[in-house]
Amino acid sequence: MAEFQLIEILKRRCAWPRADVRVGIGDDAAVVEVPAGHELVICTDTLVAGVHFPLETGAADLGWKSLAVNLSDLAAMGAAPAWATLAITLPSADPDFVARFAEGFAELAAQHELALIGGDTTSGPLTITLTVHGFVPAGRAMRRGGARIGDVVYVTGTLGDAAGGLRCLQHVGASSLESGSIDHADRDFLVARLHRPSPRVAAGIALRALASACIDVSDGLLADLGHIAAASAVGFEIGEDCLPGSSALFDQFDTGVCRELQMGGGDDYELVFTIAEANVAAMLASMAETGCRVSRIGRAIAGAGVHVLDRNGQRKHVTAKGWEHFT
Ligand code: ADP
Ligand code: MG
Repeated sequence: MAEFQLIEILKRRCAWPRADVRVGIGDDAAVVEVPAGHELVICTDTLVAGVHFPLETGAADLGWKSLAVNLSDLAAMGAAPAWATLAITLPSADPDFVARFAEGFAELAAQHELALIGGDTTSGPLTITLTVHGFVPAGRAMRRGGARIGDVVYVTGTLGDAAGGLRCLQHVGASSLESGSIDHADRDFLVARLHRPSPRVAAGIALRALASACIDVSDGLLADLGHIAAASAVGFEIGEDCLPGSSALFDQFDTGVCRELQMGGGDDYELVFTIAEANVAAMLASMAETGCRVSRIGRAIAGAGVHVLDRNGQRKHVTAKGWEHFT
């Protein structure tokens, strides 16, 4: 199986026709057209086997997830997705693996009308690097540095599910696992949240005009909100009891473990954002329209860092730091 046959599989399944693609897969480079009055928003994420995903992860899930993590970065900027380029390194020229990867990728790409327009195919340890391109109206991208003292903090969806799903796969810490009463529907939900995250693209686009700062939760809530704190030169107080959690998570794990996963667990790909109180009503209306659950979790204060409050409003010492490479 030659390299060009693998590329052909990807092209057949993932290169949707788009009017703004002048030259797609098949030449030395892609040529695309950016709509007038818009700016290009570009992000890249690499998934390394055994580091970012368990070695036994299915190829279709990898295809979905490699796109999802990038769409989540675009969502956090408020960008509308358009194109992707894929650098894939494979241990062997395995057409079945590539076909299943393409199927998972295409399933999510179709939801967003995103087209694969190019890439590179090489041999080596399984690694997937995807670059995704999207648009925002000029000057309108959401940034990390816009939070102001007094803004309130909201998060989409629920937190901790993906980290809970990983623990289910590793068979650690689930109270129901220890008592032998595992609920398969709960487990499947949590594992699906790990393998097939739903990037909040529509919510991000809707928030563009309303939020003051935004980031996606990839490394853990405290770590990622800490990036907004640093970039905006504010502090945050977060209510531990305000953190949204799924019933699946709370059924599977003790409350203390759930809190840890909600604050420190990575891979949720929800959006956490700050917003002026005056914009909250409009935001809630537009989130209801996009069908996206949001929860108010805290407030921006003078100071630095992210502080967790217990139910009595007292600051708690929390060590959850989120995921970091090279430590
Ligand atoms: P070149 O040698 O000029 O870099 P390649 O043989 O690497 O070209 O690629 C041929 C075409 O296939 C190019 O259009 C390239 O963008 C595309 N391509 C290669 N690998 C991939 C991939 N993994 N996903 C999508 N397109 C790919
Ligand atoms: Mg060339």
